[in-house]
Amino acid sequence: PMGTCPLARMSLLRDNFTDLHLWARPEVLTCTSWGAPIIWDGTFDPDVAQQEAKQQNLTIGLTVFAVGRYLEKYLARFLESAEQYFMVGQRVVYYVFTERPDAVPRPPLGPGRQLRVERVLRERRWQDVSMARMRTLHAALAGRLGREAHFVFCMDVDQHFSGAFGPETLADSVAQMHAWHYHWPRRLLPYERDARSAAALAPDEGDFYYHAALFGGKVEALRRLTAHCTRGQQQDRLRGLEARWHDESHLNKYFWLHKPAKVLSPEFCWSPEIGPRAEIRHPRLLWAPKEYAVVRG
Ligand code: UDP
Ligand code: MN
Repeated sequence: PMGTCPLARMSLLRDNFTDLHLWARPEVLTCTSWGAPIIWDGTFDPDVAQQEAKQQNLTIGLTVFAVGRYLEKYLARFLESAEQYFMVGQRVVYYVFTERPDAVPRPPLGPGRQLRVERVLRERRWQDVSMARMRTLHAALAGRLGREAHFVFCMDVDQHFSGAFGPETLADSVAQMHAWHYHWPRRLLPYERDARSAAALAPDEGDFYYHAALFGGKVEALRRLTAHCTRGQQQDRLRGLEARWHDESHLNKYFWLHKPAKVLSPEFCWSPEIGPRAEIRHPRLLWAPKEYAVVRG
């Protein structure tokens, strides 16, 4: 039924997670209408998540693209902060996609953590760099990344970790609530509205506005997601269209059609420019200031 959280209720059979999950944060929405948990600080026990993940002996992939000036500007801090906060205690493989493998910084990595570098071509327009990620990820998930990782997170590079980002975030498919839009009424959300676009959503469609700076899930689910977005982008290009927010528009269409199994609250990818908000207790990732003149110029 609408408004209940079967996923959380099932885990009550094992521990007290449901009480914690549903009642720890009464001021925010902790469950979607289709029963997926929305993860807020205080709604999960990081130690339980850690133990469960350990028992499964998981390998978790983290992909990031650093093309053009984004490499010097952001990559070192992204990786160094990931070493401090991302899936500490689990096996992790970073995949850095860049046109300049030799320029990739090599921070010291903890035990069980590796960094792989994959060469990509540099698209001329930043919009194309951003959108081309879907195709590249789709191919990577069919290759080594897909073979060695059980779960994968795909992230923007223009951000850094600021708090523990652990296995409580893992699920079949994971979407991130957009920090700027989680308060907005649905009809105002910046979905693609041109009905000719593969990414189009009608005014009465859409659950949340999701942020393309962070999505994840199991390899098979991400193969479907990246295939869908690649196809949509290709179809738009053939029609001479480009969705309003590029790959993010297509991602939002995908998650409307195929609901995410878990949603991360804006605490997991927060923009400090928004300023303090009572419900944002413990940001896990912080956006870097947008310096478009520097990185896109
Ligand atoms: N990106 C890149 N080089 C570019 C454009 C984009 O490496 O020239 C990658 C990078 O990982 C970046 C992501 O694509 O974080 C998305 O672009 P951007 O962060 O500029 O988009 P925004 O977050 O502003 O929507
Ligand atoms: Mn970004």
